[in-house]
Amino acid sequence: MGKITIAIDGYSSTGKSTVARQLAEWLGYVYVDSGAMYRAVTLYAMRKGIISEEKFDKAALIDSLPDIALEFRKNSENKAEIHLNGENVEKQIRTLEVSEYVSPIATVPEVRRKLVALQHTMGEDKGVVMDGRDIGTVVFPKAELKIFMNASARVRAERRFKELNERGDEITFNEVLENVNERDQIDTTREDSPLRKAEDAIEIDNTETNIEDQFHIILQLAQDRIAGRVK
Ligand code: C5P
Repeated sequence: MGKITIAIDGYSSTGKSTVARQLAEWLGYVYVDSGAMYRAVTLYAMRKGIISEEKFDKAALIDSLPDIALEFRKNSENKAEIHLNGENVEKQIRTLEVSEYVSPIATVPEVRRKLVALQHTMGEDKGVVMDGRDIGTVVFPKAELKIFMNASARVRAERRFKELNERGDEITFNEVLENVNERDQIDTTREDSPLRKAEDAIEIDNTETNIEDQFHIILQLAQDRIAGRVK
């Protein structure tokens, strides 16, 4: 049976990566978390002092791009983790600080061009589930299945708050809510590849759906396309 490409886009903290990972595991596909790539570039920029509360030196970021090597490697549990210049940074990229700087970094066209080229390589053989903001519109406009995920901002912030809290991060709910809203604002209004629903994407609002039900809905949509029941 032929393999397909599955693009999962949507607002921040809508559970895209959870469903994308489950789907890839179930189908035996490769999972690519494109947000992790933007986060890793952000971590690099923070460490080099390119972005901070005081400044964002775009020219320095663009100059540094050839020095940034990104790669996903599987851990002992077969879970792909992002590596920045050979270092596993999967944990370091999930902090609120990285979340605060990542959307400005993701507005830079040169950054997007580099990461989109890598994403194309990762998905060239199909059999891929990729989640992000521009996967169905820019990275794989011909993907056989496109999902666009949404949920109320409050529910999304609650989920992200719980996740960060469980990791031991000392943050308040309001800080998380503010970050979710701010990222959505930047992601939807940027000039290059803004977050928007592709015309042929299927919209799923999971404000009130549980993760299990949502997974089965999307799995069915994928299987219909893999079997050629739906074009
Ligand atoms: O998916 P995640 O929340 O980890 O993504 C972090 C940020 O990276 C997003 O808020 C967005 O600014 C950026 N991003 C993007 N395009 C993608 C994936 C992520 O601009 N395909």
